[in-house]
Amino acid sequence: MKYVDAFRHPGAARAIRGRIRELGARLAETQRAVRIMEVCGTHTMAVARYAIREALPRNVRLISGPGCPVCVTPPGYLDAAVALAGRGIAIVTFGDMLNVPGSQTSLARRRAEGARVEVCYSPARAAELAAREPGAEFVFLGVGFETTIGPVASLVCRAREQGLGNLSVLCGFRRILPALEALAQDPEVAVDAFLCPAHVSAVIGADAYRPFARRHRRPCVIAGFEPLDILLGLQGILEQVLAGEARVDNQYARVVRSEGNRKVQALIEQCLTPVDADWRGLGTLPHSGLALRPEYAAFDAAVRYRLCVGQGQVPAGCRCGDVIKGKLTPPECGLFGRACTPAAPVGPCMVSSEGTCTAWYRYTRGARP
Ligand code: SF4
Repeated sequence: MKYVDAFRHPGAARAIRGRIRELGARLAETQRAVRIMEVCGTHTMAVARYAIREALPRNVRLISGPGCPVCVTPPGYLDAAVALAGRGIAIVTFGDMLNVPGSQTSLARRRAEGARVEVCYSPARAAELAAREPGAEFVFLGVGFETTIGPVASLVCRAREQGLGNLSVLCGFRRILPALEALAQDPEVAVDAFLCPAHVSAVIGADAYRPFARRHRRPCVIAGFEPLDILLGLQGILEQVLAGEARVDNQYARVVRSEGNRKVQALIEQCLTPVDADWRGLGTLPHSGLALRPEYAAFDAAVRYRLCVGQGQVPAGCRCGDVIKGKLTPPECGLFGRACTPAAPVGPCMVSSEGTCTAWYRYTRGARP
């Protein structure tokens, strides 16, 4: 705990909070309110857990954006996975996808009805299963941002090397930068600055944000997950806003390099190519997804099983799309805490352990939005 404690030091947190308040007061003198968006599910949880939102001045709003990969995946993707499970194909997935509702049902319900759905902690598990049971067919659910994409690309390479003809991937990958582009141009969201994700940045690197920050004049600060990381990130953003600057600062230099992880980038580039993709809440964004290159088509579940993945249907009354976009806080959804709870979730933002609604339900019920 030695290293973790250093990033949770109460005295240091008080000092940074004091500086943030001072910056907030200076912004208030110019009638300036600032809206900062975090776009990382782990940040969403940490912000709620450490009550960071409540520590901010009234004129500084920290809103959660599309940081949870499970949440941004549209119901149509789940429908395709459920359909595959119904055809006797074994689904291999991370646990968070299990209870996410599709248009009609979830993988958890399909499993209860007898379908084979294997929960794994690593994509490598799918290759192990496929090698052990050559008579069965396996589809791995490839959902996630750049952090997850590397290990799945590695799975595809392994499947090709080992000649695993019974394994494929249903690609539902998303890239963070096209989402930031869309959010920065959306007047309904009106974001002034971004607290950039930690894990994703470790892969794509701090330099990846620089053209975006310049083009849209939005300060971007990459921060880690501990309370002091996040507070320092917010302080850095406010300092930029006050100075009228818009650059990329890397507050998480102990993990994130300017150039990112070149090895993972090369692996992703080798196997996958950008495609337009549907996001829950954000609609179809150009080049925001990744699909397997034609030379890997044999491992593409959509090609192999002739699937057409659509948008699907959102559960009645669910406002996850608006929550993901930062237009709505969870308590503003009429189902929050009543019809929709972590024990009986209606939408993905309450299913996922990194969902905004889960974070609010668990840590900030009753707090100011
Ligand atoms: S409270 Fe439930 S239904 Fe409402 S937005 Fe959140 S997850 Fe969706």
